[in-house]
Amino acid sequence: MSETAAVPTAPLRARAEIDLGALRANVRTLRARAKDAVVMAVVKSDGYGHGAVPCARAAVEAGAGWLGTATPEEALALRAAGLDTPVLCWLWVPGGPWRQAIEAGIDVSLSGMWALREAVAAAREAGRPARVQLKADTGLGRNGCQPGDDWAELVGAALRAEAEGLVKVTGLWSHFACADEPGHPSIAAQLDRFREMLAYAEGQGVRPEVRHIANSPATLTLPETHFDLVRTGIALYGISPSPELGTPADFGLRPVMTLSSSLALVKHVPGGHGVSYGHHYVTPGETTLGLVPVGYADGIPRHASGTGPVLVDGKWRTVAGRVAMDQFVVDLGGDEPPVGSEAVLFGPGDRGEPTAEDWAQACGTIAYEIVTRIGTRVPRVYVNAVV
Ligand SMILES: *Cc1c(COP(=O)(O)O)cnc(C)c1O
Repeated sequence: MSETAAVPTAPLRARAEIDLGALRANVRTLRARAKDAVVMAVVKSDGYGHGAVPCARAAVEAGAGWLGTATPEEALALRAAGLDTPVLCWLWVPGGPWRQAIEAGIDVSLSGMWALREAVAAAREAGRPARVQLKADTGLGRNGCQPGDDWAELVGAALRAEAEGLVKVTGLWSHFACADEPGHPSIAAQLDRFREMLAYAEGQGVRPEVRHIANSPATLTLPETHFDLVRTGIALYGISPSPELGTPADFGLRPVMTLSSSLALVKHVPGGHGVSYGHHYVTPGETTLGLVPVGYADGIPRHASGTGPVLVDGKWRTVAGRVAMDQFVVDLGGDEPPVGSEAVLFGPGDRGEPTAEDWAQACGTIAYEIVTRIGTRVPRVYVNAVV
């Protein structure tokens, strides 16, 4: 992702404006919620599409004490940009860049024996211990070490490697399956299991710096899950983890990304005119059409065809017909806004524009996917970068 240094003066085909002031305020809100727990700013997948490095910097400025990424490459990119905040990355495959991560002082997550073996071998080569965090599967059924014999084997082997000076076990952690569904029985079950797995590891002699399980929904609604650190992703970007839990405003959060474009054409057409591929929209009468020059290659879901909302000239319009690779059309109902008029797809909502949550509902998905999929062809324009 290219980092746009200044607000460009020339109009852009499309832009994702990233309000770093909103992001810093969201971090402060999350710190207040987390009380004594440290906030980890999760900036995987290019900061959920917002730009990992500028968002990580802003989050650290606002008091985030840790950064989190999925892949080691994402973590290394933070170090390459000069960020020296503690960082954990948790998604490894065999042959990954263990040695570079160890040399960069990155914490690596281990979910199984194969990963411990690779981390230990890399630590020998690097001549310094690997900082490792052992991940427990407390019931998510995805990544993480199974309780019981598997956990005992991993904990035992990690402690032996620690005794040899090859690793330092810095964390014990897990991840929820249903933290966004308040009262779901799996939440209490996972928490019990987590406490048991912690007690086992600590009983064997592990002395972690951090123990953690909470993601954004747990941070916002389940204080008993906070432990030493909370891993917040979506809430950092001002989006509610689930509309059932509340709106961003209910949690004191503000959406960070505003995605806008400008009309590339406005034209009169007669009634009965087919619009875009497949003619899935046919004008009900004489009208005006506006061409919005962004499409699925920019991350606009094709599922938004016939349903995605756009604010043009003070009115909500709907994607007419199919979203194409590079463009889609809205029916302007006879209005004639000038070509070049702003078309706001989503933003915080306080100028009357739709939100990423509105797009998620229109497309049958979650707002996480809406912001994360915005493509590299859309420049990110950072505002309020200076504290
Ligand atoms: C993505 C992720 C998070 C952040 O989740 P949010 O719901 O966005 O807060 C936390 N932990 C892990 C392991 C993740 O993969």
